[in-house]
Amino acid sequence: MKRIAAPALARLAAELARTHDVFVPLAAGDRLVLGRLDPAAPPAAIPWNPWRLSEPLKSIWFPPGRVLARWPRPAAPPAPPRPRALFGAKGCDLRAVSCLDRVLRDHEFRDPGWCAARESTLVVAGDCTGAADSCFCTMMGDLPHPRDLFDLCLSPLEGGFLVEAGTERGERLLAGHGDLLEEAPPGAAERRAEAREALAARVRKGNERFPVRDPFEKSVAKHEGTAIWGALAATCVECNACNIACPTCHCFLLHDLPAGEGAARLRLWDSCFHAGHARMAGGLTPRLQLTERFRNHYHHKFVSFPRNWGVTACTGCGRCVEACMGRIDKRECLHRLETRWIPSEVPAEVD
Ligand code: SF4
Ligand code: SF4
Repeated sequence: MKRIAAPALARLAAELARTHDVFVPLAAGDRLVLGRLDPAAPPAAIPWNPWRLSEPLKSIWFPPGRVLARWPRPAAPPAPPRPRALFGAKGCDLRAVSCLDRVLRDHEFRDPGWCAARESTLVVAGDCTGAADSCFCTMMGDLPHPRDLFDLCLSPLEGGFLVEAGTERGERLLAGHGDLLEEAPPGAAERRAEAREALAARVRKGNERFPVRDPFEKSVAKHEGTAIWGALAATCVECNACNIACPTCHCFLLHDLPAGEGAARLRLWDSCFHAGHARMAGGLTPRLQLTERFRNHYHHKFVSFPRNWGVTACTGCGRCVEACMGRIDKRECLHRLETRWIPSEVPAEVD
C-alpha cells in the first residue's frame, strides 16, 4: 500500500485541476460544503472533512434544477461535461450513490445526465475520522469508511494518508503520479483497521440510546394505517428539508418555461411532503393528509425501496436529523415504530 503526504495530495489536486473541475470540502459558516478548487490559486492542503459534508453528493450529479430540453432544438448537441474530480466523499455518501445508480443507471430507463456525470467523475473518498451527533450509519448496518464506488480512498495516517485504489482509473492515476507517493510504513494497514473499528464502536455507542432490534422494514410495515404516524408527524412543518438534504431522495418534477423565442423543459427536485406530490391528472391526490405523506416517506425508504431495489434508501448520514425544522429525529421515529410507542393524546391526522 502507498502513502501520500498532505502537500503531495494538494499537488495531485492541483494537477488534476488542469484537466478536471475539482471539487473539495470548503467552509461555509460552521459547515463544510463542496466547492470548486480555483486552479489559479490551489490550496497548500486539501481541507479534510472528518465526517460527511452538509451537502449531499446528488447536488453535483443530479442538481436541483437542470434544463433537459430546449425548443427549438439547438443546432449542435450539448458539449459533454468536463471531467470532474470529487474530494471528501464518505462511506455513507457512496452508499447513497449506489441507491441512485439503481434507479438512474442500472435500469431499463437510464438517465443520460446521471450516467455521463458519474462516468466522468473521479471520486477521491476518505475514511471518517469523527462523527456528528446525528450520524447513525452503524444502525443501518454500515461502517464509517468507504467500501466501494471510489477511485481512490484516503485514510489519514501520521501527517499523510494511506491511499488505496478502488478502480483501474484510480490505479492509473497512482501509476502516473508515482513521484508523489511513498511506501506505507510497516503496520500501516493494521493501524488503519484499528482506527476504523474504534470509530465504528464510537458511532455504535453514540446511538445506543435508540435501541432497535427488528429489521426496519418490519417496524415500518406493521404500522400501515395505525395512529402512530400522527404522533411522529406532530411537529412536522412540511419544510421539505429532509428530502432536500437526503442523499438518496430523487423525486423530481418537470416544468416547462418560455425561453427566448422557444421553450425549455426543466427538471426540479420535488418532495414527497408536498400535498400535490402524488396528485393525478384528474386532481385526486392519494395522500391528502400530512400524516399519510409522512408515513409514505418512511415506507418508501424502509419498505418499498428495499423490496424493489434490494437496499434500504437510508444510509444513516443524519442530514435529515440536522435539517429538520420540527426537530424530528429519524432514529427516534424508528425506535418508536419498533416499540409501538404512542402517547395517550395522539392526533389521528395532521393536516
Ligand atoms: S433519510 Fe436521513 S439519515 Fe437516511 S439517508 Fe436520508 S438524510 Fe440520511
Ligand atoms: S424536515 Fe422535518 S419538518 Fe421538514 S418536512 Fe421533513 S420531517 Fe417535516
